[in-house]
Amino acid sequence: MSRPAAPCLPVVGSDTRVPLVDGRTVTYANLDCAASAPALRAVADRVAEVLPLYASVHRGAGYLSQVSTALYEASRRTIGGFVGAREEDVTIITRNTTDSLNLLAGCVPTGPDGEPGRVLVLDVEHHANLLPWQRSDGGATVVVGRESVAATLDALRTELAAAPHALVAITGASNVTGESLPLADVVRIAHDAGARVAVDGAQLVPHRPFSLAATGVDYVSFSGHKTYAPFGAGALVGRRDWLDVGRPYLAGGGAVRQVGIDDVAWAPAPARHEAGSPNVVGAVALAAACDALAALPDGALERHEAVLRERLVTGLEGVPGVEIVRAWADSVDPVAVVTFSVVGHDPGLVAAYLSAEHGIGVRDGRFCAHPLLARLGYDAGAVRASVGVGTTLDEVDRLVGALAAYVAHGP
Ligand code: PLP
Repeated sequence: MSRPAAPCLPVVGSDTRVPLVDGRTVTYANLDCAASAPALRAVADRVAEVLPLYASVHRGAGYLSQVSTALYEASRRTIGGFVGAREEDVTIITRNTTDSLNLLAGCVPTGPDGEPGRVLVLDVEHHANLLPWQRSDGGATVVVGRESVAATLDALRTELAAAPHALVAITGASNVTGESLPLADVVRIAHDAGARVAVDGAQLVPHRPFSLAATGVDYVSFSGHKTYAPFGAGALVGRRDWLDVGRPYLAGGGAVRQVGIDDVAWAPAPARHEAGSPNVVGAVALAAACDALAALPDGALERHEAVLRERLVTGLEGVPGVEIVRAWADSVDPVAVVTFSVVGHDPGLVAAYLSAEHGIGVRDGRFCAHPLLARLGYDAGAVRASVGVGTTLDEVDRLVGALAAYVAHGP
């Protein structure tokens, strides 16, 4: 494999200088992409291009409104296409993954006897893919992950055989360990039991090519700010039938066909769930990120991240006292999200040291995945480093070097 000395795609902000405690300044490192990834240069350029065309969409014959409407709808097609939407799928522009999953939770239909549709989730999930289901009408069955992928798949199969479920909602890649269950198996197990599959793609879509059509997954959600676009736009893409009749996500203008004093005829999806003036610039930015990622040569993204991940894991494993967090002993091909603890050291202090002394931003805490961290014995939290298209090998080496210095000499 070649050394990714350079970013795979240029991002903005990689020349921002961060002041350190000793007066030096350093370039901020791209090592916290799982939290929010820096925007692509191509995204920043596209936003600058469309800002002068800014007007409310779907609202009239004015020239700018027409142009903005066309941009918004073209972005919708690009975003859906990026995740392999089928002909019958619908793409709803949301604020982020959390928004998408809450929206979908309001659309899970009742069963054949009118009982609310139950949802099955794993305990490895980010809270965004746990809490919306737990408070949805049918509630959630939470399956505790087993030590191996095979045993966890068996546990899913057993639960689905024991009681009917409308949906299996599962992470495409863990925001803690980067690991995942094999989607083809999950889809087969769920569909055999009559359940649909929703993938939380927040950590998968920015890092791997993903296709609804190719995998048979029914719904996917993801966030612009983790996909090299700014905050405020995300997407829910998937089968139209539930979304056309489900509870409108927000009540308001644009989501209706006709309103009377005492009655309302709601529009079908996507308008049904996009009440209010939509985030046109956010959608355009996300579409630009999708275009840039899709234009990378086949395998380039995976190769770039695999080299960086291997370097990061090998480096971390070489630092005394560092333990890498894993959910499954036999998982394969994780994305480049690596969580670790430095035995005997508070994760918050480690992260603060890396930032203040070395200008390296990483995440610490429990990563909105409290059940997983508790089960794996990291109730006090851990530290997470994650790379992306803008990250270089040099940045990974700086993190490992800084951590080694911390362990050797203390903060
Ligand atoms: N799902 C996963 C796996 C995540 O990593 C995150 C954010 O970290 C989310 C969902 C929620 O994403 P957002 O905050 O963009 O809604």
